[in-house]
Amino acid sequence: MNFILLGPPGAGKGTQAKNVIKNFNMLHFSTGDMLREGKKLDKTINKFLLSGRLVPDEMVINIIKKRFERDDIKKGFLLDGFPRNLRQAEQLDLILESKNIKIDKVFFMDIGFDEAINRITGRRVCECGASYHITMLPPKKIGICDYCEADLIQRDDDKENVIRDRFTVYEKEIEPLIKYYKKIKLLVLIDGLKDEKDVFKQISSYILQ
Ligand SMILES: [Zn+2]
Repeated sequence: MNFILLGPPGAGKGTQAKNVIKNFNMLHFSTGDMLREGKKLDKTINKFLLSGRLVPDEMVINIIKKRFERDDIKKGFLLDGFPRNLRQAEQLDLILESKNIKIDKVFFMDIGFDEAINRITGRRVCECGASYHITMLPPKKIGICDYCEADLIQRDDDKENVIRDRFTVYEKEIEPLIKYYKKIKLLVLIDGLKDEKDVFKQISSYILQ
């Protein structure tokens, strides 16, 4: 079976994708991973990744197209964070059609705007690799790493003004996409505000069907 997992930044897509892959035997296609792999083939991708700009649709689609040519695709897959907009969805449909593959469900992890902002802006990280959240996963001493006692920092990407800009772009693109998957009856809304286990239970109930 083949699935798509969508959701705003901060929804916990990565965590749930890991849970799904661990429990069900399927391939995990995250655009981030595929782009990092693709940059070996296409040097221009690297330019976009390094500058932090969004990689153009055609490049992403080409990488996915190439990946879908491999035989292991029959195992079934979870597409994580792709498509990001309606144009990508239409391109994806063409690829799927040519390979005679169909998508069984599209999961949308809904957490709402305020919660997404709260989850992301509350993130703190340490140079040692440890990560925290000021309310959901706080360090023992405010602003100090539990492991190495260094000062915690907030990544520029996690700052509120950056996140609000990212969300403006995201919302403009995701709304038509959701409408599209709803229209073709693939969309499943997942309540992303529930805890990790419950979210996974919601998702797996559709995979088991
Ligand atoms: Zn540390």
